[in-house]
Amino acid sequence: MLFNRRQFFKICAGGMAGTTVATLGLAPNVALAQTRQYKLLKSKETRNNCTYCSVGCGLLLYSRGDGALNNRLSIFHVEGDPDHPVSRGSLCPKGAGVLDYIKSENRVQFPEYRAPGSDKWQKISWDDAIDRIARLMKEDRDKNFIEKNAQGTTVNRWTTTGWLVTSAASNETGWLAFKVARALGMLSLETQARVCHGPSVSSLAATYGRGAMTNNWNDIKNANVVIVMGGNAAEAHPVGFKWAIEAKINNGAELIAVDPRFHRTAAVADLYVPIRAGSDIAFLLGVINYLITNDEVNHEYLVTHSNASLLVRDDYDFNVEDGLFSGYNAEKRQYDQSSWTYQTDANGYALRDATLQHPRSVWQLLKQHVSRYTPEVVNNITGTPVDNFLHVCRSLASTKTNDRAATFLYALGWTQHSYGTQIIRTAAMIQLILGNIGVMGGGINALRGHSNIQGLTDVGLLSNRLPAYLDLPKDSQITLEQYLAEKTPKPFGPTEVNFWANYPKFFVSFMKSMYGDKATKENNWGFDWLPKWDKTYDVLQFSKMMRDGDANGFICQGFNPLAAFPDKNSVRDGLSKLKFLINIDPMPTETAEFWKNHGESNDVDSSKIQTEVFRLPSNCFAEEDGTIVNSSRWLQWHWAAAKPPFEAKYDPEIISRIFLRMKELYAEEGGPGQEPMNSLVWDYKESHEPSAEELAKDYNGRALADLKDANGNVTIKKGQLLSGFGQLKDDGTTSCGIWIFCGCWTEAGNQMARRDPSDPSGKGIHAGWAWAWPMNRRVLYNRASADANGKPWDPNRVLIKWDGSSWTGNDIPDFTATLPPSSGAGAFIMNNDGLGGLFCLNRLVDGPFPEHYEPFETPISTNPLHPKQISSPAARVFPEDLARLGTAENFPYVATTYSITEHFHFWTQHARINAITQPEQFIEMSENLANKKGIKLGDTVKVSSNRGYVKAKAVVTKRLPTLMVNGKEVETIGVPIVWGFTGQTKKGFLTNGLTPHLGDANSQTPEYKSFLVNIEKISA
Ligand code: SF4
Repeated sequence: MLFNRRQFFKICAGGMAGTTVATLGLAPNVALAQTRQYKLLKSKETRNNCTYCSVGCGLLLYSRGDGALNNRLSIFHVEGDPDHPVSRGSLCPKGAGVLDYIKSENRVQFPEYRAPGSDKWQKISWDDAIDRIARLMKEDRDKNFIEKNAQGTTVNRWTTTGWLVTSAASNETGWLAFKVARALGMLSLETQARVCHGPSVSSLAATYGRGAMTNNWNDIKNANVVIVMGGNAAEAHPVGFKWAIEAKINNGAELIAVDPRFHRTAAVADLYVPIRAGSDIAFLLGVINYLITNDEVNHEYLVTHSNASLLVRDDYDFNVEDGLFSGYNAEKRQYDQSSWTYQTDANGYALRDATLQHPRSVWQLLKQHVSRYTPEVVNNITGTPVDNFLHVCRSLASTKTNDRAATFLYALGWTQHSYGTQIIRTAAMIQLILGNIGVMGGGINALRGHSNIQGLTDVGLLSNRLPAYLDLPKDSQITLEQYLAEKTPKPFGPTEVNFWANYPKFFVSFMKSMYGDKATKENNWGFDWLPKWDKTYDVLQFSKMMRDGDANGFICQGFNPLAAFPDKNSVRDGLSKLKFLINIDPMPTETAEFWKNHGESNDVDSSKIQTEVFRLPSNCFAEEDGTIVNSSRWLQWHWAAAKPPFEAKYDPEIISRIFLRMKELYAEEGGPGQEPMNSLVWDYKESHEPSAEELAKDYNGRALADLKDANGNVTIKKGQLLSGFGQLKDDGTTSCGIWIFCGCWTEAGNQMARRDPSDPSGKGIHAGWAWAWPMNRRVLYNRASADANGKPWDPNRVLIKWDGSSWTGNDIPDFTATLPPSSGAGAFIMNNDGLGGLFCLNRLVDGPFPEHYEPFETPISTNPLHPKQISSPAARVFPEDLARLGTAENFPYVATTYSITEHFHFWTQHARINAITQPEQFIEMSENLANKKGIKLGDTVKVSSNRGYVKAKAVVTKRLPTLMVNGKEVETIGVPIVWGFTGQTKKGFLTNGLTPHLGDANSQTPEYKSFLVNIEKISA
């Protein structure tokens, strides 16, 4: 990055609108031609990646120190890596200031302990801390471990202690945490994905087969239309956003921003379209209605690659009066989904009508379902002016041709709702109708937030998951046979790839990775050792358990639930009821200090809180080896540039010490559930400190016996690393912790550490940089970039094509390489019908089609489409939380939360440069509302919901338009989520003090984007 600190501030002040394309690295010739500066001579250069967002920008860390005994390397300079294909040497204000995070004076220096009722920390040795933690965990586990449930099924679960794993930890740390937690029987094992991108997984997997960004950062440059909706990429992913600008400049793309706020993306867009927070489904279903009504459809793609032609069962229905799909049980707030599937023949294969005219075809049902969403209805629900809405429709429609593509870029603006999954799904359906999936410049691109949120989701750190989207068995899955039968889908057509048919191979290889020689065919590969779940122990569930007194312990590893879970005051009540809380973090978090009085920001009486609290200092990203996965699914290996400072330890060492000490206690004293713990593979060279290399090879997988081909020739020798998941077996001869990562570390070496930035096609594929799951494919579903005969839709944007004997091209085929088009197998190999799902069968709990529901706190107090069913009938909500909701009468304004460029959640408040650039909490409001309330720029205001309040400076702005919705003026208040009561910024209020404790029906991700508040002026 070629600017000095003064220029850096100028960029911060000007925002994206004030930056130049060259500054952001879009002039690679300049960036690459620079000579390395002399000041770095004699320093050690280490490759790493930015720890903040999921663009995963390349960093060069420079450290000094001669490596002698007793000499510690010290990082003194950070700059962008000019070779990195996404960032090309550029960094945003956060990444450019990351040195102040690494060297923060706030870093936790040594283990600390807070005794019950105390108002202060006291220093504690590592040994004493580990001893006490192991003791507390064992006591709780011994008391609450359930070996068998009431039906006598072995369930081996421990639910009263939870574990949150950081979103910036490496995959290797995540894998170790997974192993230990499951071996102990823990069910409440969660990562940040639950709080942010869970709906991306549930929606995209239900539609296309996998829950990840379909394309990649560089590919955005190939788009002709870029829709940024449910996100603000210029602000939250500044360096990745340059590829949208690249599309605009070099591909003539139109950039459209749809948002309640005129934000930094809108400032550089061709069109800004206002929308009421939380009304996105109505908008997007309106787009589908427009496309169908005006026949703006890519018919050939639709019939070839979507399930439009398949016939749905006669008993499936949507009642427009009730606003409900068939099968609803109001008492349970659940659907019986049995009618949400296809009509089948005697073989179980789906019936279809390629003319799309059959009244039970998906296409006709969809047409009927969306017909209510006319432009006028959309305008009435969303507040979006009709002409703006139609402009978006027309722009999208222009990409139905084979030589054009549109991409959607979104983030938490779509995920954090009680129906976030269905918002994303609606956009995913639009892209199928236009033929924009599997093609260059297309896709539904989930812009992940945290640096490794994709990776830790892949690792399976969610309460009901195993790695790589396998499912943890549940209570009702009593035997291995039953479990595998239920998890292995049958194909809906005779020739479908139906890749999940390989489920048993993935599962058995995973079990061999966990339990090694102890997992045998005779003991069902250790099936009974896995904890079986009775309900989802997601963050909302565990939060409720804490406040109900049903939880005793909590490990918060790089996670700050007091700030991240909704309804902060109820979370604090819950934490106060715990027996023990263990924080593992490089920085002091609000959670670690929930018991401490910080004035009005956290007004508690420490003497009344009996929780024992530990604060254990860990490494940060710059002090570890390992991988993180960016939004593009690239596993990028990074290296440590220094050791953890002071007494801080490497995360895997902390985890290992706790686990091994617990095992010692069990060996000495006995206790329940020891078999899973003692069977866990733990063959690391340093048993207290497994290395990143060892853990990565674990999850890549090995041959456990000589593997032979059909002719009996040995192809892989016992002990060798596997080179792809096609080699996995279900007979116990292979191990593989995370099957989608198989091939990342082969006998040819660490593929994740590859650094060839070349791009022969010029289309942004960069196949030699890092390694993308699965099997280094860069655009998912790329078989759909070609027609039924395997001919690319667009000769100028070839991903793969059928050459007569195999699929070849610029990307690795996301398809069986030698399976000819004539086989008739569908492009979406993870779906058992081989097709993109306009109708998503019974893969989602709240409907096979999306439907507009209001937020639980709605400013219009009704649902204009079906007043009898205002909000989502299947959303995650507990009865006591309904009582904490406010009404429009008392809280008349819509609030929405968001991030700002200069800060990353609650981390950068500890970094001086970020604290200087944005030192104090603020909220945004329209001039209209400010006039009504007599509030002026800079006044201190109090924003209140029915659950709590924040006080902040008022920013009165034209950025938040007043909208007319259902005949009523609706005002929106913008609440950035940055400030807390620790750190170097001015003390602030946690924003989640305002937000409701409820979430998405499918992923349980909390609602942060649309809730009701009031506002009053406190002082001028
Ligand atoms: S925060 Fe994101 S965009 Fe900014 S430097 Fe880090 S990875 Fe890049």
